[in-house]
Amino acid sequence: MTGYDDNNIFARILRGELPCGKVHETDYALAFHDINPQAPVHVLVIPKGKFVSMDDFCRNASAEEIAGLWRAVGEVARTLGLVEGGYRILANHGGHAHQEVPHLHIHILGGRPLGPMLEGGDVPPDGTFTR
Ligand code: 5GP
Repeated sequence: MTGYDDNNIFARILRGELPCGKVHETDYALAFHDINPQAPVHVLVIPKGKFVSMDDFCRNASAEEIAGLWRAVGEVARTLGLVEGGYRILANHGGHAHQEVPHLHIHILGGRPLGPMLEGGDVPPDGTFTR
């Protein structure tokens, strides 16, 4: 992935240039409803720092930024009432994962049974799984 694009949509949301359905905000993270929800609850949690992806974040974020993002993820899920029924978190990194917005975002999905992790599943080329 290339360097951080200051004009990506989530950077503009962080600067207040674009609106968002804000759910939660801390010094380290902002959470808002996904514009195209894939489940009854679909919230994105983003770090306030300029991180392109999960790889960039894991390499370059401070311990405070990392803790701040994940604390926010847990708190948002709790606040939205997802803990008892269950929820899924995911972060897409790069092309194979179909990352569309080049600012790290954690998806929180819930509000109904979500089914298998990947639609249709997949089988490794040799047909076996290693555990
Ligand atoms: P990705 O595929 O990069 O993991 O997911 C990007 C997500 O951002 C998608 O679920 C998409 O619906 C959401 N999204 C894209 N543009 C906007 C926007 O302007 N506002 C909000 N709230 N969500 C957006």
